Amino acid sequence: MNQKSDTSKASSQKSTKYVYNFGRQTDGNATMRALLGGKGANLAEMASIGLPVPPGFTISTEVCTYFYEHDRSYPQTLANDVKQAIALVEEQMGREFGGRDNPLLVSVRSGARDSMPGMMDTILNLGLNDETVEGLASISDNPRFAWDCYRRFIQMYGDVVMGVQAPDEETEDPFHALLDEMKKHLGKELDNELTAEELQELVNRYKQLILNTTGKQFPQDVYEQLWGAVGAVFGSWKNDRAILYRQQYGIPAEWGTAVNIQAMVFGNTGDDSGTGVAFTRDPATGEKVFYGEYLTNAQGEDVVAGVRTPKPIAAMEQELPSNYADLEKVRNRLEEHFKDMQDFEFTIEAGRLFILQTRNGKRTGLAAIRIAVEMNREELLDQKTALLKIPAESVDSLLVPVFDAKAETEAQLICKGLAAGPGAATGRIAFTAAQAELEARKGNKVILCRAETSPEDLKGMLNSQGILTTRGGVSSHAALVARQLGKVCVCGAGDITINYEKKTLSANGVVLREGDYISINGTTGAVYKGLIDSADSEVKRVLEGHMAPEDSYTYQLFHTVMEWSDKYRELRIRTNADTPAMAQQAVAYGAEGIGLCRTEHMFFEGSRIDDMRQMILAVDAEQRRSALKKLLPMQRADFVGLFKAMEGRPVTIRLLDPPLHEFLPHDDAVRRQLADKLGLPLEFVIDRIKALHEENPMLGCRGCRLGILYPEITEMQAQAIFEAAAEVMQGENPLVVQPEIMIPLVGFKAELADQLAIVRRIADEVMKDKNITIKYMVGTMLEVPRAAITADEIAEQAEFFSFGTNDLTQTTLGLSRDDMGMFYDQYTQKEIYAKNPFASLDKTGVGKLMQFAVEKGQSTRKDLKLGICGEHAGDPDSIDFCHNLGLHYVSCSPPRVPIARLAAAQAALRAEKARG
Ligand code: PEP
Ligand code: MG
Repeated sequence: MNQKSDTSKASSQKSTKYVYNFGRQTDGNATMRALLGGKGANLAEMASIGLPVPPGFTISTEVCTYFYEHDRSYPQTLANDVKQAIALVEEQMGREFGGRDNPLLVSVRSGARDSMPGMMDTILNLGLNDETVEGLASISDNPRFAWDCYRRFIQMYGDVVMGVQAPDEETEDPFHALLDEMKKHLGKELDNELTAEELQELVNRYKQLILNTTGKQFPQDVYEQLWGAVGAVFGSWKNDRAILYRQQYGIPAEWGTAVNIQAMVFGNTGDDSGTGVAFTRDPATGEKVFYGEYLTNAQGEDVVAGVRTPKPIAAMEQELPSNYADLEKVRNRLEEHFKDMQDFEFTIEAGRLFILQTRNGKRTGLAAIRIAVEMNREELLDQKTALLKIPAESVDSLLVPVFDAKAETEAQLICKGLAAGPGAATGRIAFTAAQAELEARKGNKVILCRAETSPEDLKGMLNSQGILTTRGGVSSHAALVARQLGKVCVCGAGDITINYEKKTLSANGVVLREGDYISINGTTGAVYKGLIDSADSEVKRVLEGHMAPEDSYTYQLFHTVMEWSDKYRELRIRTNADTPAMAQQAVAYGAEGIGLCRTEHMFFEGSRIDDMRQMILAVDAEQRRSALKKLLPMQRADFVGLFKAMEGRPVTIRLLDPPLHEFLPHDDAVRRQLADKLGLPLEFVIDRIKALHEENPMLGCRGCRLGILYPEITEMQAQAIFEAAAEVMQGENPLVVQPEIMIPLVGFKAELADQLAIVRRIADEVMKDKNITIKYMVGTMLEVPRAAITADEIAEQAEFFSFGTNDLTQTTLGLSRDDMGMFYDQYTQKEIYAKNPFASLDKTGVGKLMQFAVEKGQSTRKDLKLGICGEHAGDPDSIDFCHNLGLHYVSCSPPRVPIARLAAAQAALRAEKARG
């Protein structure tokens, strides 16, 4: 199914080179992401442009593939290659791995082709044992530091490699528990108040914990440690959260991860040391400011784990001025070189700056757009490259609601945290991921509230409107993941205390319980008690004329990106709209026509459904005609409204396609009401509903079958369409109307012929009657496999095809649109589906049928018009596919129109690039 392609796919390379050095000797570069993962490729690139990267090496993704294909074992040559690479690092660092006097310590980290922050495992300080810890103590002249490194290493190794973990979310981590117990016993509050001797005692307790839990000793041999860590990192490629993450972002399981082994440098050797993460621009707003945070005398994990709240990077200018100046230089060099906003990690060891990694920074939708537009202005990127840098989905975040300004001022502010993921979210408090999931299943909106989040919370975050944490900074796990998921997030709200046991959240005298409403503003960091109404985004307000374009920079960014998109795209963008209001919204968003008006949806409102029900319940043509008589003027008025709203743009109207079960009442009281309203005996109504019962209504009397059984329905609809067209064309402010009449669920050319004969006859009658010529088209939905297979025959009748990929997916996969929920979770966990096939086109299955239908259809009719109107028409990946298939338009729901415009442009640009 949908998988990202990469020309330098790891598995297709026949290389037997598994280990790639970086440092004084660098074997890789930034283009080798498939083989070295994003982190490894960028480390190599940084080393080769002269940035101060601690030396190391990358074990390629090919080894990951080998590992899973060979019962978790390694290629024969690997052990020797690793030994040689370690020797090179030893030489550059002037230290010895496992050496007693001058030990080399390394970090072991994952590194997939696309970054998957926090999803896989990492081990730091590897190479410490009971002997080397003494060596580290003497070379650093800081025994406290050495023992602190050792206890951290045992803790990480025990957790990640040896599986010593808390049994559930609510139990404290066993290593933390020992640390807390010791601090409590000694009457100390902070970790760094523990002395070297106390840390040494803690190390003993940690080792004992591991022995008691696993029955195994903590390994003293440094190579045994190394291979344990490498195995754990490769193994973490298939842990639950990595699988869930891959599912969310469409990352294929076969890509695998690389493993990066790199010399450790230490940010915790004293006050002239430190560590931090920085973004070359603000990842939340996209503004060109240096953004990030750091801690002095700390290791990297302290910054991301959110345990100590770090200082903003600006404070470093005062505290460590020369390092700050170096860092500014690195910031500029990185952007100049990588031509994108970078998220990089650094460590200062005793006054010396090292860059540990860099990657394209995750950013909010707003930031993605701002950065692309401004980098174009700064001449860092040309227009086409800038456009390709914006994930199409990010346009959505410019359109999402914000809190209603008045409601927000009146709401009770509980406290302020850090603004970490913009937007407005309101929902019920859930304190655990499981509770968030439960509430979401009930259809409730949820805010996941936690002291800090960990990768285990991913599912809960996905199910929440927003995330609130009480600890951690803007690069904490919660903030990073929320930004990536496009979730609203406030983090580090330190005034709040969460009591998991009592299930309460309290701050500044306010106490809230699980299930109570809370509201968070991820743009300002404000947290409010209760529910707050939200208001439209600035873009929407400008589009609707409630705000001037010059007052909204966000709107101006949106406008620029849309303008660029329209310049490069080849696909036309239509919308699926059934009412004038929807049509107007879509036109404001840039829709160029209606690609699907579901006429049955026009009957959902008010008492109209009763007239529709009367029509369905009719026993003969006469009764049906009388019901249709009532429906005709409504339909005509609807079409007039739609044509007017579209101001001469093409409008595709699909004739009735009601799965009958969606229209008939299921419960007794409503049936009784209906009988009363229609003046029919209740028994009659019940009997008719029984008679019309279908075991499988999605495959029952739907689509064109209805019009074939009851031609008077098709007659009425055709009459309403052509009379409405005539009215608009002959009215006071005449408009050109281009109706395109579409017949649903066709599988046989005879079905289409039957319906089109009626449409053409009625068109002739109305045109004659109104003395007018209406240019119209007739065509069909392409939504069952038989239609695709016989598309050459169908095209004899149809002037256009519109792929109804909802039904085409349902019928091709033999998978009910309404019932897939039951096994969907399992299927995604097992990675059988790369993506939900109803959201993103199954290109290799459904896509093949579409391709076949296009070829066959065009073999009969060269100028066959081709479009798509299933849900997939708003999905960027599917739009790319439709572009390459040569479709003429995609038709999606109104709010997806801007995304579709951008995605269509990107598809055209990618295709242009591929052509070379
Ligand atoms: C489709 O099947 O893709 C389609 C657009 O029609 P509906 O969703 O109304 O069945
Ligand atoms: Mg359909």
